[in-house]
Amino acid sequence: MQTLSRKADFPGLVTADGAPWHYLDTAATAQKPRAVIDAMARALGEDYATVHRGVYSRSAQMTLGYEAARRRVAEFVGADSENEIVFVRGATEAINLVAMTWGMTQLREGDRIVLSMLEHHSNIVPWQLVAAKTGAVIDVCPLTEDGRIDLGALETLLTSRTKLVSLAHVSNVLGSVLDARRAADLAHSVGAKLLLDGCQSAPRMTLDLPALGCDFYAFSGHKLYGPTGIGVLWAREDLLDAMPPYHGGGAMIESVTFEKSTYAPPPQRFEAGTPMITEAIALHAAIDYVDALGPDRLFAHEAGLAKQLRDELRGLNSVRLFGPEESAGIVSFEMEGVHPHDLGTILDEENVAIRAGHHCAQPLMAHLGVPATARASFGLYSDESDIAALMRGIERTQRIFG
Ligand code: PMP
Repeated sequence: MQTLSRKADFPGLVTADGAPWHYLDTAATAQKPRAVIDAMARALGEDYATVHRGVYSRSAQMTLGYEAARRRVAEFVGADSENEIVFVRGATEAINLVAMTWGMTQLREGDRIVLSMLEHHSNIVPWQLVAAKTGAVIDVCPLTEDGRIDLGALETLLTSRTKLVSLAHVSNVLGSVLDARRAADLAHSVGAKLLLDGCQSAPRMTLDLPALGCDFYAFSGHKLYGPTGIGVLWAREDLLDAMPPYHGGGAMIESVTFEKSTYAPPPQRFEAGTPMITEAIALHAAIDYVDALGPDRLFAHEAGLAKQLRDELRGLNSVRLFGPEESAGIVSFEMEGVHPHDLGTILDEENVAIRAGHHCAQPLMAHLGVPATARASFGLYSDESDIAALMRGIERTQRIFG
């Protein structure tokens, strides 16, 4: 299984001295393959011009590239139309967009929004902002003992007042995978919409969003081996059609007078200003790269590494593991008597990069009863050498801390 590893394609995976850098923080952001870096450099260099406005051929060419990226994203997520793909800065912006447009127009006092205990702050705070303005109320779905969103509990939380269920498709802390189809069926059974935070599923799962049954799906390009500064909101066309603009400015209008402006249809309605042209083109290259390897293979590869790491960590008696046995390639743990930040610092000396902290999931940390965890997360370039380096570093940390 580990033959998938493509370290040679990723210039970021070596240290300044040319030694291997064991990057285990892909859930935060993925390293970029040469194909993405080259696509971005070309778009910023010999191909560069604005889109949608220029009458000169370079701009027309760039517009074709930008819209081809939209079609490629649509194909990648199984969308019915590229008009369902809105380019945004990242998942955070995608969720805020839904909250501030759909949420502000659809939610009334006493309506319920269901989130889960394991959500990232990006899927909590926008809903708190909307709840404060509309009088809607947030319900929190608990987790199973092993750290999955408890869909039995979700069922009992739902009422005719529930208008939205918004859940992580894959947890960025525990790696737990949601049964999205079942969550969609449950939400729809009371007439609620389902938003999936796809930050951690887009980089490692084959997606067919209409078949999954969700209504909104948000993800970030930089976790999908693309650049920062671009992400995607997918929503069904009828939902986008009914949503008011998010930002006002150029490119999102049909006509403007001082008396009244009219707005372009989606997706342009939600893309005010000069868009992320080069980022979209580089995201296209990233999707081509990931698709050629096959997202299902990536999932199996990373889940296999996560299982191996869990087994090895279990062999050390001072380690507490969080999350389910079967998970995407993300492993959170705690070493008895060692703060995760100290572990992260010692590992850094061994050229091993892990994440230590609350992972923007403070309610989940409170639920687990810890201020922070250590988290190792795998990507398509990860292999057994990364696990071996991590284990060496952990054993050295154990010796240092006695
Ligand atoms: N949701 C999840 C599950 C995430 O892992 C992240 C990134 N850590 C986000 C939302 C926010 O993504 P971004 O910062 O790229 O907007």
